[in-house]
Amino acid sequence: MVLHKLTLRELQDKLTQGEVSAREIVHAYYLRISQVEPKIKAYITQAVDSARAQAEALDQKLKNWRRTMPLMGMPLAIKDNICTEGVLTTCASRMLGTFVPPYDATVIARLRGQGYLLLGKTNLDEFAMGSSTENSAFGPSRNPWNLGYVPGGSSGGSAAAVAADECVAALGSDTGGSIRQPAACCGVVGLKPTYGRVSRYGLVAFASSLDQIGPITKDVADAAVLLNVIAGHDPQDSTSADVSVPDYTRALKKKDVKKLKIGVPREYFAEGLDPEVEQAVRAALDQLNELGGEIIDVSLPMTGVAIATYYVIATAEASSNLARYDGVKYGLRSKQAKDLLEMYMKTRQEGFGPEVKRRIMLGTYTLSAGYYEAYYGKAQAVRTLIRRDFDAAFQEVDLIVTPVMPTPAFKLGEKIEDPLQMYLSDIYTISVNLAGIPAISLPCGFSKVGLPIGLQILGRPFQEETVLRAAYAYEQATNWRTRRPTIR
Ligand code: GLN
Repeated sequence: MVLHKLTLRELQDKLTQGEVSAREIVHAYYLRISQVEPKIKAYITQAVDSARAQAEALDQKLKNWRRTMPLMGMPLAIKDNICTEGVLTTCASRMLGTFVPPYDATVIARLRGQGYLLLGKTNLDEFAMGSSTENSAFGPSRNPWNLGYVPGGSSGGSAAAVAADECVAALGSDTGGSIRQPAACCGVVGLKPTYGRVSRYGLVAFASSLDQIGPITKDVADAAVLLNVIAGHDPQDSTSADVSVPDYTRALKKKDVKKLKIGVPREYFAEGLDPEVEQAVRAALDQLNELGGEIIDVSLPMTGVAIATYYVIATAEASSNLARYDGVKYGLRSKQAKDLLEMYMKTRQEGFGPEVKRRIMLGTYTLSAGYYEAYYGKAQAVRTLIRRDFDAAFQEVDLIVTPVMPTPAFKLGEKIEDPLQMYLSDIYTISVNLAGIPAISLPCGFSKVGLPIGLQILGRPFQEETVLRAAYAYEQATNWRTRRPTIR
């Protein structure tokens, strides 16, 4: 039995039936990791000893305790910007290269409550700033479908780990597309929940008004299972919403999209969209139509200014959030400094990479006294208009369907020298964060050279159920998920 090929629900079944033990699961996964990780480099840290100890304890408990929980014994990978008590959490930055959090993020505490197994912490662009994992201080991850290509980012390590069967499922974080875009690049499923749906407590902040944690999984059903566990109000996060959480697996019953109106925003099918991607997404729309959905043209007129708006707001919030790394409280402290001020400056100079520094400078500039209204104030006003675009569209339709990325995954090194080109790869994902709505990315085809193409489904706030229903119906009607990468 090849355990690492199973989905989370399949693996859970085997554990519940007593066909495998948690110890065997851990063993199988680290064997798989030892085989492919030298090529993929999805992990920053492997938590081998603690995973074994967790598995032993769980097996002991299972001897006379038959209660099962969906995440019990499930081997997960966690993006390395989510705090795990006692396990290194680096944000792929030299600044936090030795940081071991004294507490768990709320999402981790919930997983732990179910008896999950933490296999390790996955690679990302430093502080989640980027679209390829090439901004990691510890080197890039690789795309399992073709090692010369990026796995996307910033949650590229998590997406690559799921695609390469180095974990059964993973968590990522999404500020402007960082769950959905790498999921699309790696041919897996990534869900960004509504802002406030999942607690951000213990997620190292990048841009607090945009950040959201979510699942990256092998299929849509697994995403629903994981969301069930991590969603819900948390008093420790003042932006977490006190909205009741449905059972998301209920969304998987219908297998059709009857009576649903599906909007296609014309601005998303314009110049710059790769023809292969357009073709795959249009074919998916036909499929959704066959499944009973009514396809309707909609307009999101502010689409063209979304990237500019995002890069003012995200960098402003980042510059403020990253002010805490001063060499005093945690992480790196420069050894070169003669006095306090020099210690601050040298620590930040040595600890942050070029992209993080670029964003701190941009954000500090747009927040400075003379420019605040012209840039930050203006961007906030435009953000409201972007949200209104979606409000208006969702008056007419239940869901919106778009590409995830203008092209399939690009080559390692292709965009790293040109930050603006890199920023443009998020054109279809960023507005979702500015509007705070939920969206899922799932495979809808392959390019001629064999790279996955992603389909994005957007929903109304807190309507993850409808998003999951449509994604599941589409997934079950097609067989993209059966294609798996051969790593060589
Ligand atoms: N690629 C975008 C950025 O660089 C989004 C990153 C993210 O979602 N964390 O900011």
